[in-house]
Amino acid sequence: KNVITMKNISKIYKMGDNIVKALDNINLTVDEGEFVSIVGPSGSGKSTLMNIIGCLDVMTEGEYYLNGNDTRKLNENKLAELRSSEIGFIFQSFNLLQKLSALENVELPMIYKGIPAKERYNRAVELLTMVGLEKRIHHRPTELSGGQQQRVAIARALANNPHLILADEPTGNLDSQSGKEVMKIIKELNERGNTIILITHDINVANQAKRTVKIMDGKIYE
Ligand code: ADP
Ligand code: ADP
Repeated sequence: KNVITMKNISKIYKMGDNIVKALDNINLTVDEGEFVSIVGPSGSGKSTLMNIIGCLDVMTEGEYYLNGNDTRKLNENKLAELRSSEIGFIFQSFNLLQKLSALENVELPMIYKGIPAKERYNRAVELLTMVGLEKRIHHRPTELSGGQQQRVAIARALANNPHLILADEPTGNLDSQSGKEVMKIIKELNERGNTIILITHDINVANQAKRTVKIMDGKIYE
């Protein structure tokens, strides 16, 4: 089963007379249970591709199906709904809410989805335990190391059982030891059946995926 199907995707940015073709005829499919990395140097189009995969931006040309949904047929509200039900995001900068505890950060997506309090709490504790933070559930992000914060973000990404985990430079702000721990958890998620797309400029990180897609000048070349 396909989670992602992209056909002939192009993305053009126009700023006055300046036209940038950030993506040039991208074809990509990702099946359920895959662990794929997308790797390329700065300016190669990774962020642009990630934004389209994550339904944060739309392509200029081509077709994009997310879990069978034709994204061209959806308006902004429907895309936002699809994004929150289908995708768990992990960012380089963690993007945790500083005033909330680890537990509350993980509960937040479940609050938006209307999950009852008790169920929400139990699931958040279970997810934080899975990432090794059962003793830190009431800590705020400032009281956690970078690696621990990223593990909270991973637990949050899983909260609503998304079909796809989209990780953008998840180890980019971490020292090498914490980076290794985070990659270990991401690999474990894949072993449990989660579909993962990892975006990075670092070939050593990319090579830990089961399949590597190389991008340069907006084109997939390998
Ligand atoms: P990467 O994430 O690999 O660094 P990007 O997707 O950010 O690559 O950028 C690909 C190309 O598109 C670059 O030439 C970049 O300058 C350009 N670009 C990215 N976003 C925009 C934008 N919002 N407006 C104009 N040009 C952009
Ligand atoms: P990354 O570290 O992920 O490669 P970038 O620095 O390429 O991030 O881009 C950060 C943000 O700025 C992205 O949302 C991207 O779309 C936007 N961006 C990148 N290049 C340009 C540009 N030339 N003009 C306007 N926005 C850009």
